[in-house]
Amino acid sequence: MFNNRIKIKDLLLQEPQGQQVTVMGWVRTFRNNQFIALNDGSTNNNIQIVVELGQFGDDLLKRITTSAALKVTGNVEPSLGKGQKMDLKASSIEVLGDSDAEKYPLQPKKHSLEFLREIAHLRFRTNTFGSVFRVRHALAFAIHQFFNEKGFVYMHTPIITASDAEGAGETFRVTTLPIDGSAPKNDDGSINFKEDFFGRSTNLTVSGQLEGELGATAFGDIYTFGPTFRAENSNTARHLAEFWMIEPEMAFYDLEDNMNLAEEFIKYIIKYAMENNREDLEFLAQRLADEEKQLPQDKRSELGLIEKLEFVLNNGFERLTYTEAIAILKDSNHNKKKKFQYEITGWGMDLQSEHERYLVEKHFKKPVILYNYPAAIKAFYMRQNDGCEAGKETVAAMDILAPGIGEIVGGSQREERLDKLTSRMEAMNIPADELWWYLDTRRFGTVPHAGFGLGFERMVQFVTGMTNIRDVIAFPRTPKSAEF
Ligand code: ATP
Ligand code: MN
Repeated sequence: MFNNRIKIKDLLLQEPQGQQVTVMGWVRTFRNNQFIALNDGSTNNNIQIVVELGQFGDDLLKRITTSAALKVTGNVEPSLGKGQKMDLKASSIEVLGDSDAEKYPLQPKKHSLEFLREIAHLRFRTNTFGSVFRVRHALAFAIHQFFNEKGFVYMHTPIITASDAEGAGETFRVTTLPIDGSAPKNDDGSINFKEDFFGRSTNLTVSGQLEGELGATAFGDIYTFGPTFRAENSNTARHLAEFWMIEPEMAFYDLEDNMNLAEEFIKYIIKYAMENNREDLEFLAQRLADEEKQLPQDKRSELGLIEKLEFVLNNGFERLTYTEAIAILKDSNHNKKKKFQYEITGWGMDLQSEHERYLVEKHFKKPVILYNYPAAIKAFYMRQNDGCEAGKETVAAMDILAPGIGEIVGGSQREERLDKLTSRMEAMNIPADELWWYLDTRRFGTVPHAGFGLGFERMVQFVTGMTNIRDVIAFPRTPKSAEF
C-alpha cells in the first residue's frame, strides 16, 4: 500500500509528541538546505520539515526544489522556531516528482490574478486559489446537504436540449453535421436538421427549469445542480459561457414561499462555509483587505469579508416590489444628478446592473429581493398577477441582488393556469406544440408551484470576495477563451 500518508491539515491539529508520520505534498520553499515548507492542498498551512545537516546526500537535497513532489517520513516534534507549533524531523525523504525550479512559473512571490489566469492549470497551488476552491467545494457540499435535509430530490436535467424555449440566453448549437457547407439542405436553403444526430436542431441547455417543473409536479420538491451554457457575448466580471446553476423547483409554493426558501438557503450555505472553512475565509478576507488598500477610500468596502458574511446571516433581506424600486431610484439624488449611465425612464424599464447595485450598495446596504416585475420584461412561464392596473401588468417574479455582485438569484412563481399560460405563449410567439410535454403538467393535476436559479459562481464570488468570476471556476469559458 502506497497511500499511508496523513493529510497536513489533520497533522497540524495533533499535538507534537514524537509520533511517526508520513506526509506527501509539493515543496513551497526550501530554506538553508534545512527547512522545507511542504503543502498538500488540504490547507494553506504548510508543514515545516526539518532536514538534519549531513543526514541526506547533496544529490537528494539538490532535487528538493520549488514544487517538487515529496514523500517524507519522520517524527513530529514541538517546533523550536516561531510561526509553527510543530516540525517534522525527516528520517526519510523520497522525491516522487522532480520540478525544474527555473522553469516553474509560480515563484514564491505575489502574482497578479490576471497572470495566474494564464496558468490556470497551476494556480490551485497558490494560497488564494487553494482557499477559493476549498470554499467552492464546501458550498457545493452544503447545497446538497441543505436540500437533502429538506427532502428534495436531486434531479439531473439534460445538458443537450431541443429548444431554447426559455429564452434565457443565446445558445450553443450541438450538431454532428459538417460545417464546411456540405450539410444537407431543405428546399429553401436552410439546413435540414432532420439529418442531424438527433433528427432535430439541438443545443446546450441554458437552464434545467422546464424539466425541473416536471420533477416538482411528481416529487413535490426537486433541485438541479449542473452546468449551463450561454453564448452571451458579454465580457463582464460576472458572466461565464459555462457556469453552474442550482435550480430548486417546488410544488405547493407561492412567490413568498419561494423567497423564504431562497433566503434560508443562501444563509445556510454561507453559515456552513463560515463554520467549516474559517481559516480559508480569514485568508481571503486578508487578501481582499490588502487588495482594497490600493483603491481610493470611497471605492473600498465598508465591511471586511467576514463582517459582510456575518451581516448577511444576521439580517433579513430587504423585500420590495419592482414598482417601489423604480420610485426609490427615480427619487434618488444619484438620479437627479444624472449619475446613472442609463437613465431611469420610469415604470416598465429593465433595471441595469448599476441600478441594482445602487439599491443594494448605496440605498439599503444589504441583500435585496425585488419582486413583481413588469410582465413585458420577464419570461413566459412566470405567473401573471391578478388585479393589475391596465398597462401595468406584473408577474410573480423575484430577483435577489447581492452587494458587490448584483443579481445572484432569479426566480418566480410559475403560471399554473393552462389558459393563461398558453395565451401568453401565443403573444410571445413561443410554439406550444414544441412544449407539449411542459404543458401536460398544467393538464394533469396542475398546482401552484415556484422555483429559482442561483448562479453558483456568483455565490462563490460573494462568499470568497473574488471580484472576477473567472477566478472562482477552475477553467473559465468566456468569449475567445477556452484554454485548458
Ligand atoms: P444577468 O442579468 O446577470 O445576465 P440573468 O437574468 O440572465 O442574469 P437568469 O437567467 O435569471 O439570469 O439565471 C439565473 C442565475 O444564473 C442568475 O441570477 C445568475 O446568478 C446566474 N447567471 C446567469 N447568467 C450567468 C452567466 N453568464 N454566468 C454566470 N452566472 C450567470
Ligand atoms: Mn443574462
